Amino acid sequence: DRMRLDGKVAYVTGGGQGIGRAFAHALGEAGAKVAVVDLDPARAEAVERELSVKGINSISIQADISKPEDVQNMIDTVVSRWGAVHIACNNAGINLNSASEDTTLEEWDRTFGVNLRGTFMCCQAAGRVMLKQGYGKIINTASMASLIVPHPQKQLSYNTSKAGVVKLTQTLGTEWIDRGVRVNCISPGIVDTPLIHSEDLKPLLQRWLSDIPAGRLAQVTDLQAAVVYLASDTSDYMTGHNLVIEGGQSLW
Ligand code: NAD
Repeated sequence: DRMRLDGKVAYVTGGGQGIGRAFAHALGEAGAKVAVVDLDPARAEAVERELSVKGINSISIQADISKPEDVQNMIDTVVSRWGAVHIACNNAGINLNSASEDTTLEEWDRTFGVNLRGTFMCCQAAGRVMLKQGYGKIINTASMASLIVPHPQKQLSYNTSKAGVVKLTQTLGTEWIDRGVRVNCISPGIVDTPLIHSEDLKPLLQRWLSDIPAGRLAQVTDLQAAVVYLASDTSDYMTGHNLVIEGGQSLW
């Protein structure tokens, strides 16, 4: 079964909740060993326990992916534990909101520090190991907001950082494929996770629902097969791709 990931070593950033947690479960159920990585160590540990209960070989790692030393420590920890990094799920991201005329440099830098600079550092650190191995699958989490401007706006720094993740993915994906490293990204639409139930975003929910042809928010389960597909050898001819899963929202 070419969709199986037995013997593969994976990590998932932002694995402590939401989409990353669902990715960690999906990769583990497909047979991979999984390092659950999160800024919040209690969340990472809780998800690691969920995986262990299912019999999945897993560890938890605390890391802030906006810090270069944390990123390198994450990769070193995975390699020292399991001797390889085959699947890198660079999923952690933050979503801050403000009218563009009020967006502070602090907000811009924080958003880019995690979503784009952080994702770049993870891709580079994992990529260095993968290039040596001659094998690797990098899967970044971008967003539908990389393609369209979801209504109503007020997400300038978020949208532009996620557009950057797509270009990062395209550039690395074409540069590294002839050395066995594929880089793709998943762009979810609006997913029912703690992120979108923040006080900031709550008022936008009703409006968003009416923008989705599928008539409902995405559930994390709508994304799980995609990450397994991109992690598996069945997707070897795909690189630099942005896999959009949004119930048709970007087409309306
Ligand atoms: P979430 O806020 O529910 O979970 C994110 C997790 O990442 C949290 O556990 C958090 O502690 C962790 N995290 C935050 N900053 C981190 C850092 N600097 N280093 C390490 N871990 C960090 O978010 P989610 O909805 O699961 O989103 C996951 C990814 O999917 C993000 O990149 C987000 O932008 C993207 N996304 C989400 C949606 C959505 O509607 N929820 C839509 C499109 C894209």
